Amino acid sequence: MADPFVFEESSLKIYFIPYLASGHMIPLCDIARLFSSRGHHVTIITTVGNAQTLQHSISNHFHIHTIPFPSQEVGLPHGIEIMSVTENSQSLKVYEAAMLLKGPIELFMEENPPDCIVADFFYTWVDDLANKLHVPRLAFNGFSLFSACALDSLYANPNLENLDNFVIKDFPHLITIKDTPPKEFHIFLEQMRKTELKSYGLIVNNFAEVDGEEYIKHYEKTTGHRAWHLGPASLIRKSDQEKGDRGQKSVVSVHECLTWLNSKPPNSVLYICFGSLCHFPDKQLYEIACGIEASGHGFIWVVPEKKGKEHESDKEKEKWLPKDFEERNKMKGMIIKGWAPQVLILNHHSIGAFLTHCGWNSTIEAISAGVPMITWPVHSEQFYNEKLITQVRGIGIEVGAEVWNNCGSWKTDKLVGRDQIEKVVRRLMEDGDEVEQIRKRAHEFGKKARQAIQQGGSSYNNLTALIDNLRYLKDHKSLHS
Ligand code: UDP
Repeated sequence: MADPFVFEESSLKIYFIPYLASGHMIPLCDIARLFSSRGHHVTIITTVGNAQTLQHSISNHFHIHTIPFPSQEVGLPHGIEIMSVTENSQSLKVYEAAMLLKGPIELFMEENPPDCIVADFFYTWVDDLANKLHVPRLAFNGFSLFSACALDSLYANPNLENLDNFVIKDFPHLITIKDTPPKEFHIFLEQMRKTELKSYGLIVNNFAEVDGEEYIKHYEKTTGHRAWHLGPASLIRKSDQEKGDRGQKSVVSVHECLTWLNSKPPNSVLYICFGSLCHFPDKQLYEIACGIEASGHGFIWVVPEKKGKEHESDKEKEKWLPKDFEERNKMKGMIIKGWAPQVLILNHHSIGAFLTHCGWNSTIEAISAGVPMITWPVHSEQFYNEKLITQVRGIGIEVGAEVWNNCGSWKTDKLVGRDQIEKVVRRLMEDGDEVEQIRKRAHEFGKKARQAIQQGGSSYNNLTALIDNLRYLKDHKSLHS
């Protein structure tokens, strides 16, 4: 077998700097794998703890350069190096720590300059570094291009506070959003967006067919910037084990999960997960439990483990479940308390629908698996992703979530009620003309996703073109130096 770390002279040396949140780290590392699968010399730069998480699944595909996490400097306990379902203050400290990586990363890169840097858009300082090293920088923000365009419209029209709803201005489709985004959200992102637009291009973990030609053109026309659709990157993981090993260490084994799923008929199980950051209050979890039980359908429900002193007693932990819920639903349902092997689950034939918060990764993973969605956006750009899923591509239906929360904090007492949940679960899990059409479209997109990353597919060709561009820049640079 060829040594994976022996490279041809023409191969590029590319550094990837993922942000310290699962929804950023996981897709960017899968994208890094797409580059290494073409024979390029890929290095992930991350903190020691995050490197350990990456190590168990993907370390043989690239090098990892580690940097100590500045726990003391930001006042975080040892072992917390990534954003998770905790109160907002902890996430802010992780952000603060991520910004402190600037010094050691600059030092490393100045001593070992790459041919190209791919950095999360949170690291705005990489722009100066890339300029100093005279190497191209590619930006990654983890959004669909559709949502990036919607965000651009928001920056251009920022006076949206406290409206019941608003229409996305100057947009290819007529999209109305209930509720308005928290002001802090777009102020925070706008800064990064400005730097992102100075990059050589934007890498998108999607394939052209989902964002559609109209949004690709709209993006290029309104920004003059180039977006490279290279995904869905999760499809680089072929075996069950590779799918199961994605992200944090799962609390259920691949074997346990598959044994349970294999015992269920096709399309009979609803998968429920709200990503790595959503923090639902107990009373909302209680409504979900009542709603899914009343629907009568099988389910896998991922409930992140809440950490911290206030959640330590067992009694407190189970307050969100109706009495004897687990006992009554032993055969029908599985509750995963902690990290679940999401991509493995979504790709099982027993999964009939996905109740999702519309985080972009979850969305594109469901699309890749051909699974229709029940959309329940919570924060960030998720309200835009919902519209792409339901109104633009017709591969899901809305639960009716109306409150745009801040990431990491719950804004309101307004809950999505059990009846609403039961109704929408029945609508998508049971037979009918409407569902058949949605299911058919979702299945078609699943097929297109797999074609996109195969030789000759749209994302495959985009990656080839991007690599050719980067090679040209490298050769051009060496001619002038
Ligand atoms: N994820 C997972 N298991 C979990 C929770 C999340 O594998 O129990 C993965 C999921 O597959 C996705 C990522 O974590 O790749 C979450 O990203 P997304 O954009 O969907 O949501 P975020 O966590 O950023 O809100």
